[in-house]
Amino acid sequence: MVELKNEGDKYIVVFEKTHNSIVNSIRRIILDEVPTFAIELVEVAKNDSPLYDETIAHRLGLIPIKTDLDSYNFKQTCKCGGIGCALCEVKMTLKESGEGYVYSGSILSDDPQVIPVDKKIPITKLFGDDKKLELNLIAVLGVGSDHAKFSPSHTYLKEDGDNVNLIIEPYGQLEAKQIYNKSIEILIEKINDLEEKL
Ligand SMILES: [Zn+2]
Repeated sequence: MVELKNEGDKYIVVFEKTHNSIVNSIRRIILDEVPTFAIELVEVAKNDSPLYDETIAHRLGLIPIKTDLDSYNFKQTCKCGGIGCALCEVKMTLKESGEGYVYSGSILSDDPQVIPVDKKIPITKLFGDDKKLELNLIAVLGVGSDHAKFSPSHTYLKEDGDNVNLIIEPYGQLEAKQIYNKSIEILIEKINDLEEKL
């Protein structure tokens, strides 16, 4: 028996009388295999900020991006053969000038469904009204086993008597319920694969 509870941003799935190894395999799937979007490619047209291009690219990669799972493919398995197309890449730009911090809210996306979760994440700072930051970005779908930046949530187990609680605290790319449903979909695919091989 499985029960679902919402506690603020937390989502708790209560597994009654279930061995924790089963719940832990769902946790592993969430961390490693539920896909999300993240910025993967950064082309620097202009960077007058004090941070190196590489540092800015690293910071951009860690910004959680709202994820639309229904409209996009993984680049590696896309029909384009991995070259990159509108079905596996979202193009974004960031153009900012003048004194002050540059925030994630300045990122403009070609897809209004695929945007930074939080507009207030500082990326760098410009010192001087003549200074500029101009970037071309590409976000792609990926999984946590490739890079931790793609993990959708802080996910852990808590034992409670005979029950095991799976606790999902999303970073915002996907809602908790989407994360859980996707993990179960992946688990079922794995079981079906295994059955075919037996
Ligand atoms: Zn493609």
